[in-house]
Amino acid sequence: MVRSETWEQRQQRLKKEYEEYLSGKWHYQYAFKITCSYCDNDFYASNRMQKYCCYRCTNEAYIKRRKERKALEKQKACVMCGKDFKAKKKDAIYCSNACKQKAYRQKSVTDYGFGKIAITEISNT
Ligand SMILES: [Zn+2]
Ligand SMILES: [Zn+2]
Repeated sequence: MVRSETWEQRQQRLKKEYEEYLSGKWHYQYAFKITCSYCDNDFYASNRMQKYCCYRCTNEAYIKRRKERKALEKQKACVMCGKDFKAKKKDAIYCSNACKQKAYRQKSVTDYGFGKIAITEISNT
């Protein structure tokens, strides 16, 4: 038994086992031909659940997934103007300081100035 076989050596061994299985030499399948979910190259693995051909693809795919998830998390719609923006903080709800201030002012109007608005509306009609 080789103590540390290279990736190529392992691939050759598994390929041989896979081809032997196809030719009917083995009753059970020990090697599987899989298409890497990251680089789309065919490779051989002893585990049929394996998705990536090598450590690098596993790692790259993980980084890509994490990036995509992060981008999705950060992409938010401003509650004030409705524009999409990239949130620097997880709890950010406004695209800019301007919107934040606008919202703050609007909030103080609805909270404390409602009666005042109602009166002006009535006097206008
Ligand atoms: Zn790959
Ligand atoms: Zn905004």
